[in-house]
Amino acid sequence: MHQILSCFPQGKTKALTLSYDDGKLDDLDFIALLDKYSVPCTFNINSGLLGKDEGWGMHVSETDIRSVYKKHEVSVHTLTHPTLPRCSKESIINEVIEDRKNLERLTGKTVRGMAYPNRDGWTHEIKQMLPFLGIDYARVTGCTGDFLIPKDFYEWQFTCDHNHGLLEKAGEFVSLAKPQYLYLMSVYGHSWDIVKDNAMGKFEEFLHLVSHKADIWYAQNIEFVDYMNALKNLRFSADMSFVENPNAVSLWLNVNGMPVEIPGGQRIRF
Ligand SMILES: [Zn+2]
Repeated sequence: MHQILSCFPQGKTKALTLSYDDGKLDDLDFIALLDKYSVPCTFNINSGLLGKDEGWGMHVSETDIRSVYKKHEVSVHTLTHPTLPRCSKESIINEVIEDRKNLERLTGKTVRGMAYPNRDGWTHEIKQMLPFLGIDYARVTGCTGDFLIPKDFYEWQFTCDHNHGLLEKAGEFVSLAKPQYLYLMSVYGHSWDIVKDNAMGKFEEFLHLVSHKADIWYAQNIEFVDYMNALKNLRFSADMSFVENPNAVSLWLNVNGMPVEIPGGQRIRF
């Protein structure tokens, strides 16, 4: 029987994702930096606060959402940033679905990702509501400090933020090379927090370290989730001599030590 292991696109085994919250004006300089290094990011936006300043900094305006975030993923951070465990079920549904509707209207794309607002801002009951609201993953706060693939995308904790070993973790990540693992480095935070901490130079150092590496897949969070879910749809023959890919996109497998592309809609014999 062939030895077959799943891979990221082009047979890669390392992926990097970023997730930044709140949609404030500091995102503009932050995105300029990301674009300089061609690193995609996911931005979690409160559409009910757009164009407003509630005393913690001005949010990007509705009219600018499409142009500011055009190279990046826009995802739900709820309509008005409440602590969801304090809200009624009706309010939670409204906060998520109305944010989705607004962001889809403003970007012209489906919006299927989310970051729970506020520290520890989720419960198991809230998590179980999200698939019915069209949400495919939700990020929690706190750092894992590791590069493991999350086991539950509705409770997705990231590797670190800019205050918890960012450069050390980045150095460790780029040097990882054991072929038996898939590795994910994920970094989260707020651009306004980076500005407040005068850490934009540190963040650029991070981008310099991790960008333009041939063995890293740079993905938006939804791209990562969609790819991992698509892998689960592969249909292998019982003797593992062929596989069918019913998805529209190519998937990659390591077959007996070699990367093999499985194009969408095709059956591939090994
Ligand atoms: Zn937030």
